[in-house]
Amino acid sequence: MRELLPNNGAGGVLTRDADTASPHAGAAAIRCPACGGANAPDAVFCANAECGKALGPFAYVREELEQRARWHERLADRVAAFIGRPQFFLAHSVWFALWLGVNTGALALVSRFDAYPYNLLALALSVEAIFLTGFILISQGRQTAHAEKRGELDYEVNVKTYREISEVQALLRDLRERLDEKEAGGGQQAAGSRTQVGGKQ
Ligand SMILES: [Zn+2]
Repeated sequence: MRELLPNNGAGGVLTRDADTASPHAGAAAIRCPACGGANAPDAVFCANAECGKALGPFAYVREELEQRARWHERLADRVAAFIGRPQFFLAHSVWFALWLGVNTGALALVSRFDAYPYNLLALALSVEAIFLTGFILISQGRQTAHAEKRGELDYEVNVKTYREISEVQALLRDLRERLDEKEAGGGQQAAGSRTQVGGKQ
């Protein structure tokens, strides 16, 4: 599996050797590549409740891409996540209410600084829109990269599975041929001994 899934990220692949995985008796504990926790040799998912990752000798797309992410990509992800929350709309509602309240004279907290038609507010919102668009585009690009990487990994695992199934089929075919040969040989021997017995009588 390692040669099929080249992995540059540290801890992206299970530390356990894939070939020694099947016999559970005496097998080493599986170290989770995501959280580093130890798991039983036959565990399928990480025992750490917060992690819960599926344990397998595969690359871990999300962890790897998160490790490789640069500061502006992390920031873009956080901003994009915040925009999707109700707090974002609440914060803007409070901002607009205060701005309009102060600048219409309804709230006498500070003197008016942006009279109708609120040009400063419009400018601030335009600048905000430009930044938010940029962040959303960066975040979307990252999500697309995640999806592509995951699709690629799925494909690689499918190819690997296909090859292994082909190997198993070839082995089964070989076994069947040998069994047939053995049965044919055994039948001939039995027939031969029967004719010998018949000749003596
Ligand atoms: Zn884990």
